[in-house]
Amino acid sequence: MIHMGIGYDVHRLVEGRKLVLGGVDLHHTKGLDGHSDADVVMHAICDALLGALGESDIGHYFPNTDSRWRNVASKVFLQEAARLVALRGGRIVNVDCTVIAQTPKIAPFIHAMKGNISTALEIHPARVGVKATTNEGLGFLGREEGIAAMAVAGLELPT
Ligand code: MG
Repeated sequence: MIHMGIGYDVHRLVEGRKLVLGGVDLHHTKGLDGHSDADVVMHAICDALLGALGESDIGHYFPNTDSRWRNVASKVFLQEAARLVALRGGRIVNVDCTVIAQTPKIAPFIHAMKGNISTALEIHPARVGVKATTNEGLGFLGREEGIAAMAVAGLELPT
């Protein structure tokens, strides 16, 4: 059976933090604030995978009240989600993500992001989609107050 999951994440853009998306440091003037590295791409994909499993969300598995996850690289969350899929005897069919960022330009980093995501999930890069859009200057994303990401995941799970 194919199971679909959806994920969404947003973090605030602040001074003095690295901007890490899909495990890539974009060397931007601002970065995303958060307990971990605040990688919205990996967080959204993690939630999509957990959703496809019918599990609780990323905040349940990796609460920001737990010092173990402070400044941790978010690939750890993806590795854990992939482990949960394997525990259920499942297989990741694909994951797909859209980054919503007014700046910086995401396109030059997409290849590297796909590489990091596919490595963390132990799937072929062709099973990973990463796209980006601006928010056309509208709202908090358009004002560069934050960066958001949405994702879907497809799993093959035993019936
Ligand atoms: Mg998050």
